[in-house]
Amino acid sequence: MRIGILGGGQLGLMLAEAAARMGIATRVLDPANDAPAARAAEHTCAPFEDIEALGEFARSVDLVTYEFENVPVASVEWLAERVAVAPSPAALRTAQDRLLEKEFFVRQGVRTPPFAPVGTHEEYRAALLRIGVPAVVKTRRFGYDGKGQRVVRSLKEAEAAWAELHGVPLLVEGFVAFERELSIIAVGQRDGGVRFFPLVENHHRRGILRLSIAPAPDAEELAAEAEACARAAIREFRYVGVLAVEFFQRDGHLYANEMAPRVHNSGHWTLGGAPTSQFAAHVAAIAGLPIGELEPAMPSAMVNLIGAMPDGRALREIAGTHVVDYGKSPRAGRKLGHVTIVAEDMDLLMERVDRVRRLAEAAGG
Ligand code: AMP
Repeated sequence: MRIGILGGGQLGLMLAEAAARMGIATRVLDPANDAPAARAAEHTCAPFEDIEALGEFARSVDLVTYEFENVPVASVEWLAERVAVAPSPAALRTAQDRLLEKEFFVRQGVRTPPFAPVGTHEEYRAALLRIGVPAVVKTRRFGYDGKGQRVVRSLKEAEAAWAELHGVPLLVEGFVAFERELSIIAVGQRDGGVRFFPLVENHHRRGILRLSIAPAPDAEELAAEAEACARAAIREFRYVGVLAVEFFQRDGHLYANEMAPRVHNSGHWTLGGAPTSQFAAHVAAIAGLPIGELEPAMPSAMVNLIGAMPDGRALREIAGTHVVDYGKSPRAGRKLGHVTIVAEDMDLLMERVDRVRRLAEAAGG
């Protein structure tokens, strides 16, 4: 079997490596000639809109998946007419647009921050009046890692945000003074079954994920709520593969922020922290193979390595660590690798996490 992956970043790399361990070959399509996944997969270097390349790609694989959320839906739909595609293009279409995504959550009865779509300055002012400040102004499409969004705390900041972001469809959202951020990684199977990794607690700085802790402490009831939300998405989209949903926790309730129809950074801890990684689970699910055990034996955490790689030896000297280097050239704010940390108990885990974070921050992340 050969699986085609649209997008050849670190997610594609880790998918390709997981597939290889299962005896499955992969081919990635990515316009960058230095795509990290090319280390582990055949690489077709072409734009996502290149019909000739897409046709050749479709003919050369048994199944297509994607790791890049902004791959054009039209290309994915075109492929779906020629070869099996998972997850479904419908899930991708919804996840690409923050408005469709939030409307989907509302239809499922899932709480979200208040939101309003905005095109004109008049609509913008009206939305801010209704929602109030602080608010978060986001581009409806193409945002990631805090890009394409501004927190607005006053009328003056609102005008500055408008000047920066206007010209594309926007969403104004109420700012949630959350207690913490959480995410669930679900796996939809071909037979409609759904499996879950434990709920994860996430810490962001400047819009970028820095740390995940699994399982999220004191979150049993919230886990059931998060699972119900992911289950609804999997049912609605006949979703096969890994799906991530991110939430804010406030006053004991979950507010859905967004979903990602792909393997997700907050699931990287599973690589070394769970008996089956999210990458292996995704490959198994889309290929129709048994998924294996997901429940981790010990608490686990993941620290992202951002901007510059710390000394690998110093990281590995900390007990319970598993370091993954994506092989990307360093750049401020760029995710270059991550460290999975496991420990027998939460106290020891957090002690090790602190040591890893100090090394990561000293290096520039
Ligand atoms: P997003 O791109 O929507 O995942 O946002 C990136 C990060 O910005 C989130 O993980 C939060 O830390 C923060 N953020 C986004 N939306 C809101 C909101 N409505 N209220 C408070 N913080 C937010």
